[in-house]
Amino acid sequence: MAAQQRRRPSATPGEHFAVLDPATGEAFDEAPEQQPGELDAVVGRAHEAWRSWRSDPAARSTALLAAADAVEAAGTGIAPLLTREQGKPLAESYAEVARTAARLRYFSELTAPRPQPLTDDRPVRSEIRWRPLGPVAAIIPWNFPLQLAAAKFAPALAAGNTMVLKPSPFTPLATRLLGAVVSTALPEDVLTIVTGHEPLGARLAAHPGVRHVTFTGSVPTGRAVARGAAASLARVTLELGGNDAAVLLEDVDVDRIADRLFWAAFRNCGQVCMAVKRVYAPARLHTQVVEALADRAKSVVLGAGLDPATQLGPVNNAFQLARVEDYTAQALAEGARAVVGGHRPDRPGYFFAPTILADVPATSRVVTEEQFGPVLPVLPYGSIDEAVEAANDTAFGLGGSVWGTDLDRAEEVAGRLECGTAWINHHAELSLAQPFAGSKESGVGVAGGPWGLYGNLAPFVVHRPQEA
Ligand code: NAD
Repeated sequence: MAAQQRRRPSATPGEHFAVLDPATGEAFDEAPEQQPGELDAVVGRAHEAWRSWRSDPAARSTALLAAADAVEAAGTGIAPLLTREQGKPLAESYAEVARTAARLRYFSELTAPRPQPLTDDRPVRSEIRWRPLGPVAAIIPWNFPLQLAAAKFAPALAAGNTMVLKPSPFTPLATRLLGAVVSTALPEDVLTIVTGHEPLGARLAAHPGVRHVTFTGSVPTGRAVARGAAASLARVTLELGGNDAAVLLEDVDVDRIADRLFWAAFRNCGQVCMAVKRVYAPARLHTQVVEALADRAKSVVLGAGLDPATQLGPVNNAFQLARVEDYTAQALAEGARAVVGGHRPDRPGYFFAPTILADVPATSRVVTEEQFGPVLPVLPYGSIDEAVEAANDTAFGLGGSVWGTDLDRAEEVAGRLECGTAWINHHAELSLAQPFAGSKESGVGVAGGPWGLYGNLAPFVVHRPQEA
């Protein structure tokens, strides 16, 4: 979706914008429409707060632990709000809250590497130290507002930086509440959440007071953010889109993996950067795979996320729904067959029926681009070389997976995938300790684990002679 579609022509200070419930399409609350002109003061305060926040790692660790406790205690307030504005089933919102607290705890225990002596054949003593960067700007999308906010602020704050974070205008409320809860454990202005429409994000990315811009979102917006940050040459970390392929091998046990594969594609209504977005099945097994996935799509309970029976919520917003509909309609016009779904159900809200597509041309946009919705094309292949080539035939390089019974063979095929992470018989399983880095156009920089901390630090070398 073009960022321009979300731009509001004009707004005055103090104005608020409506936040919609995707299960109904109706407004249920509002958030402040903050102005780009406010950023000078916000970033200035983040810079002031940085002066003391940067200097005491032990205090930071204690504060982040307290923040984790505060988030857990506030879960019953945060999770339903997230479901209301994002659409996901309530259990998934609670899982986001839990993951946010876990991430704060994880980073509370990580500190910058100790100063290390550098070997030097001259009579000098030099050592490398690691220092925080300053105020960090974070911009995040609407699919995992809490988890992605925490993935930004936990490592940045642990490293001794302060942060100004802008959530998507589709999901500002749970992140604002999370920011308020986390801030109860932090000194003032260490973490600030700003909300509003473009050009707020563009101006934040280009702000001269910011030393690191960390962005998660689509490739086109990532390019715009990198261009903006170039003005001040701030460091840039980009976590962008994906078009992950799942390659099924000849010896795959279809019945055994079908549930896992289905949910790897449909969790959060398919709105996951690392969702399975294309399945490649051996021609001999194609019909069986299509039917197994279609059976699951038929039985999934679609509904509002607050309903405990719901397994699949609505698409988050009208623009995204239009994109999913467009891609599907185009594929159908090109000869694809919707084995199940393929349309919007007859109900209010931004729902789309879970869809399994067969007979899809490999050139169809639902295969070559990121559909980011509850639609999955299943394509047959002849040889494994053909499957690997098709899986890699994309500018994206986020994740990929290989599914089969012979794990050595699966690992050998996984090693040929051009992506940042490859799984065997799973997809998008991530631990807090592992690095997360897209290859090709899926990202720049590394997040996650200690690498997430290092991405928020700068090397500083002190070099002194042995004698005066
Ligand atoms: P988006 O790129 O449209 O928006 C992301 C954020 O950028 C939002 O906060 C938006 O308001 C802001 N923004 C829009 N225009 C901007 C500009 N010119 N300058 C600065 N900020 C601007 O993405 P989206 O539709 O919100 O999210 C979906 C995309 O995010 C998908 O491509 C998905 O794959 C990707 N994503 C990637 C990861 C990852 O870790 N790699 C994780 C989640 C989502």
